[in-house]
Amino acid sequence: MTTLVLHTTDALLRSLRRPRSDGTLILQRTLMSPNSVHPPGTFEHLSSTEIFRPDDSESNFLIIRAEVKSTNGHILDVVLKISAGSDMDDEEMLLRERDVYETHGESLASFIPKFFGLFETADQCVLCLVTEYCGDPLIRPLKRVERELNWKVINKAAELHNLGFHHGHLDPRNILHNRTTGEIRFIDLMALKPHACERKLRIKADCMIPDQIDFGCRELHELVRLSGLWKSNHLKFLDCISVYIPSIRTVEDVLLHVPPMLIMTEAQRLAVRKAAEEFVKMVPQMIPEESPSIQTCPASEDVI
Ligand SMILES: [Zn+2]
Repeated sequence: MTTLVLHTTDALLRSLRRPRSDGTLILQRTLMSPNSVHPPGTFEHLSSTEIFRPDDSESNFLIIRAEVKSTNGHILDVVLKISAGSDMDDEEMLLRERDVYETHGESLASFIPKFFGLFETADQCVLCLVTEYCGDPLIRPLKRVERELNWKVINKAAELHNLGFHHGHLDPRNILHNRTTGEIRFIDLMALKPHACERKLRIKADCMIPDQIDFGCRELHELVRLSGLWKSNHLKFLDCISVYIPSIRTVEDVLLHVPPMLIMTEAQRLAVRKAAEEFVKMVPQMIPEESPSIQTCPASEDVI
């Protein structure tokens, strides 16, 4: 049996219920699948260093970075994901996440944090998932993350898909970046599932955003779109009218987008038509490059 001892006198853990009189809360590792190998022992909580993901309004979990001492005396830098309420959904989510870690932990070792177990109190009121600290979550929207880092995240997610999995919830807060090693890890694994990726196009910066169906993979399309790495598939006509690039073939196609209030007089109609003619001539030079196909373009440093 593996035990986790939490000290509820710690400021960040004070909200946990029903500690023993010495201020400790004893949790036992939940049943493992038969093929998981973890030696019995004790993890003793030494200190909590910070509350993790304070902006996470969607979740009721208490998420804390902490130091724990293992039976062999090693000090581990871990993250405690604690459910201390009576919310069955939270409990269910932690159990599902445990199953993913136990089932795929080995094959996904370079994609997810090391897993130390899911622990629970005897009355099952407190559950605590313990994983290795692997960096800070990206709390900013991907559009505001540096391009180099976004590229790394996309590369990692594409590798995950190539390996046969999709994450299912690739929000910035579920993406960890270790500033020291530069490594990327994914967390919140309850939606992770096997995935046969049908991506047909390469990912290349500054290409025109492809149609999701043409691209072939919804999760990667969404990730790249939100990162702002692709250029818009719309052009501005008269500085204020947004026109979908694939729909621009003739002058008439462009004029269809012009609101009647801009062509009230004959002079206005002629001026707008002339502008549309010029616009259609300029379009080929303004269209961003299209994403290359996986079949014809090999992956490289700049192409995923
Ligand atoms: Zn995919």
